[in-house]
Amino acid sequence: MECEVKNKGINKMMQTIFGVGYDLNAQAISALGKVATQTAKYAPTSALKSETMTNLKYYGTERAELADDYAKDLNREEAKIVCKKLAKHFKLRYSLHFRGRCGSGSCSRYGRINLGIPTNFGTICHEFAHLLEFTKYGHSRHARRHRRLVLRLISYCRRKMYWEAEIGKRLAPKPVKVSTEAELKDKLILKRQEQIARFEKRLSYLTKLYVGKIRKAKRSLAALQRSLNRVPKSSTM
Ligand SMILES: [Zn+2]
Repeated sequence: MECEVKNKGINKMMQTIFGVGYDLNAQAISALGKVATQTAKYAPTSALKSETMTNLKYYGTERAELADDYAKDLNREEAKIVCKKLAKHFKLRYSLHFRGRCGSGSCSRYGRINLGIPTNFGTICHEFAHLLEFTKYGHSRHARRHRRLVLRLISYCRRKMYWEAEIGKRLAPKPVKVSTEAELKDKLILKRQEQIARFEKRLSYLTKLYVGKIRKAKRSLAALQRSLNRVPKSSTM
């Protein structure tokens, strides 16, 4: 009951900020309620409320500004490619994990990025902006600098046309080439011709080598025989 009252309060506040059309789903409301009750012991309620409100306001503005980028859904494989591209360009180290509700994301200061599948360009750029801020300044929060970095990342994605062509090309199934019997025979003929050339080359090398060895041995033998036939000078005297 207590939680319900809190949820109603939060929902009302959301509507004042984002207008009547803003609809916070039930799951998010219950999550917010849980966080509020859990942390109430440690943090003053007003401070917690104001922080949550600032964050939610920030998310709302960002989603409204970058509606197109948030609408571009990506699956697991596509997200992997996009993250790799961004990390390479902005020289960032990260580890990617697929956790959480769809479209959600989080980033730790040690580079662990969690994404809920399906994700989108908006979320990926938001999390990478946190990572960029952590790497450059050691801390990150939802403020003007973070927004500037998100816009920088988004504009890079737009310039690269969201890697649409490349993602399509990489994820397309590779065509399997079926070769005919004649083609297979041609391949085999070529293989055998190459084999013969290789063996002939080896043969000519070995022939030269052993002819030389035989000649050397014959020369040595002749010398030995000559020395046996020669009569020592002392015996003739
Ligand atoms: Zn954030």
